Amino acid sequence: MRPVIILCLVVIVVVCSRVQRVPSQTPAQTKRIVPEQKRVVIAAGTVLDGKGHVMRNTRIVIEGSKIVAIDPKATPVDYDLRGLTVMPGWIDAHVHITWSFGKDGKNAGSGGTTQEAAYSAASNAWVTLMGGFTTVQSVGSPNDVPLRDAIAKGALPGPRILTAVEPLVGRGEQTGTPDDIRAYVRKQKEAGADLIKIFAAFSIRRSDMVLSQEQLNAACDEAKKQGLRTLVHAYKDAVRAATLAGCTEIEHGTLATDDDLKLMAEKGTYLDPQAGLVMENYLLNKEKFLGTPGFPEEAFSMTAKIIPMYHEFMKHAVKTPGLKIVFGSDALAGAHGRNAEEFIDRVRDGGMDPMMAMISANSLGAEAMGMADKIGSITPGLQADIIALDGDPLKDITAVRRVVFVMKGGVVYKNTARRAIAVYGSVAP
Ligand SMILES: [Zn+2]
Repeated sequence: MRPVIILCLVVIVVVCSRVQRVPSQTPAQTKRIVPEQKRVVIAAGTVLDGKGHVMRNTRIVIEGSKIVAIDPKATPVDYDLRGLTVMPGWIDAHVHITWSFGKDGKNAGSGGTTQEAAYSAASNAWVTLMGGFTTVQSVGSPNDVPLRDAIAKGALPGPRILTAVEPLVGRGEQTGTPDDIRAYVRKQKEAGADLIKIFAAFSIRRSDMVLSQEQLNAACDEAKKQGLRTLVHAYKDAVRAATLAGCTEIEHGTLATDDDLKLMAEKGTYLDPQAGLVMENYLLNKEKFLGTPGFPEEAFSMTAKIIPMYHEFMKHAVKTPGLKIVFGSDALAGAHGRNAEEFIDRVRDGGMDPMMAMISANSLGAEAMGMADKIGSITPGLQADIIALDGDPLKDITAVRRVVFVMKGGVVYKNTARRAIAVYGSVAP
């Protein structure tokens, strides 16, 4: 045994002496990998600026993580994206980034703590980024927090994540007093929440309010005091109640009246209605959801029936003057990476103008998150979140399926046109 121990000690000494030499090399290595130094020029034939304008034959200059200039004469060109449609990376206001299918192929929800669940969450983030989404709001799971932080550190590829951590789920009086609710909101902030998610009414089938006006007032007021926005999952009467409570954004919203929508427009409350992906995904992956909590057989026939109601509601929302409609796909297991399908549903079935659809996931989406000074448009000073589509979504909305270039914060993650990254078999689109 003794020679082995001695050998081990020798190895440790050698390793330690090597480790000790590393610090003197660190500054030079750090300097090489910090992207701030590098200037990158993208040449583009068509640029949607994210605010509704189209720029032609120009160049976008990036230094470090930010866009620094729009200059048609900038050289040398690093990425020639002429022939494609260039625009800001998309923002999805409503995803469940850690929600996955489990080892057995069945719906496993968003709270899994196994190694498989962790890898699935990382994969969800990767495919979402590859699908052109550079920022997502996850609403929410405590598991979002380490994933958000790992991506922010650059340790994993994925979209910028904002999370609600744990939502406030209304249970009528049992939810607690206004003071209890205020304490719950503060607890989420302490747990790292970027926003507060609130369930005020569950679904079209169960549309009764599960929080009173007073409880909603407390939740949204406390969040505001803590500097946080509020996203309220609401149907029917809960839409008006959440609007009156001064909450930031309504999710889903179906069964709200035209008057409710008008009130939202007047008060500047954002609306995030869905036109199809989330429900199509339940039907597409029926076997994986069936029998898991919340998914009995009858839920699926109901889902098929209510899709037209969502289309109709979207049409009413689109026609409401001044109503700020943001993009949220509600992507969960089976839909990650396919978030852009929701654009197609909105334009094809919801009567939304394609340019409005793009703005809803760019400058308007950023505004709704309070991040308009950081993301959402191709403007000097903003983060270099830039994507390119093979096709023109203003003429053919299915072009959103063909994201061929993705840059986030000045780093290129996908460039299939130049084959810098292969087209991964399982990565849509
Ligand atoms: Zn959701």
